Amino acid sequence: MATNEEALAALNAVMGPDGRTPLPQSGALSGLSIHDDKIYLSLSVSPDQAKASEPMRLAAEQALKALPGVTAAFVALTAERPPQPKPSQPLTSHGDAPAQGPGLDHVKQIVAIASGKGGVGKSTTAANLAVALAALGQKVGLLDADVFGPSLPMLFGVSGKPNLASDGHLLEPFVKYGVKLISIGFLVPDDAAVVWRGPLVMTAIRQLLRDVAWGDLDVLVVDMPPGTGDVQLTMAQNASLAGAVIVSTPQDMALIDARRAIAMFNQVKTPVLGLFENMSYFLCPHCGGRTEIFAHGGAKAEAEKHNVRFLGAAPLDLKIRETSDAGAPVVASAPDSAQARPYFELARAVQDELNKGKRRAPVFSAV
Ligand code: ADP
Repeated sequence: MATNEEALAALNAVMGPDGRTPLPQSGALSGLSIHDDKIYLSLSVSPDQAKASEPMRLAAEQALKALPGVTAAFVALTAERPPQPKPSQPLTSHGDAPAQGPGLDHVKQIVAIASGKGGVGKSTTAANLAVALAALGQKVGLLDADVFGPSLPMLFGVSGKPNLASDGHLLEPFVKYGVKLISIGFLVPDDAAVVWRGPLVMTAIRQLLRDVAWGDLDVLVVDMPPGTGDVQLTMAQNASLAGAVIVSTPQDMALIDARRAIAMFNQVKTPVLGLFENMSYFLCPHCGGRTEIFAHGGAKAEAEKHNVRFLGAAPLDLKIRETSDAGAPVVASAPDSAQARPYFELARAVQDELNKGKRRAPVFSAV
């Protein structure tokens, strides 16, 4: 295995953004990690230098790959500033233009799973939805863009670093339960994601969209970070989402946050496919009885108020949590169970909404 010192020594032969200072001294190195025979490096450049920096990126990749014991090197350019959101510009409906960026070339539609706040079960819903769509015959990818708490590795029981595809540049997604999987959690150490600054986070998300060998996909499900900040806006603007599913619990506070999420997607002209209520009622694991813990019907009423479709409700249920914790979402481990049913209904409703709107192919706008 190569060491950090060997990697830095190899990078000495590559000049930084000014063309004169070797990379390690140029201030552009923003991350280096070595995992077995693979090296991951990030280089920070200003957005206007992004295009011109491609030869530097390639040279760095080649220098690292040439090290003994290294089979693959993945060098990512991260811009220091994200593009400023311009809510007034048309953000979706790019006609039939194909997706840009090699990874998205054959991705037909991108669907974001979002929530106004964390902990409402967004990732659980995204995982089960993705597996259900795959079970219904769709070609599905799942991108875990939840930089504040990537949970896909746990939900699917996959870990380690993704391989590089045969072209040596795109990341090869993992595949489990028929779903192609990539998580920001695969690329950074467990504790690193939380300290990322917003702009770096956004660039990382853009790269996860663009630099993954997704291949042919009918739907790419994106597990978004919670909230309605710049990350969501920039994501919505960069990836031309076919639509968003908002996940909420029935409590008033969560619904207020869900309302904000709906408003945000409306603002950036991303169709809201509907609202899904999680932890809607309690299914007793002993008697199977159903208890309405929270005021029932909150999300449904909220959906009607905002003229968005109510996409169904999943119970608060031990089996849903346990299967998720065990790396086999309930739709994969118990597809015929009562607990899996709401996710299949959600998947059908999402397909229906996507077909109804005849939504366009995603267009990736490069930085
Ligand atoms: P988020 O992505 O919104 O932060 P998660 O999907 O990570 O939320 O869920 C938070 C926690 O709640 C996890 O431990 C998960 O297993 C659990 N959970 C999510 N949905 C349910 C459910 N319907 N029933 C029981 N536990 C659930």
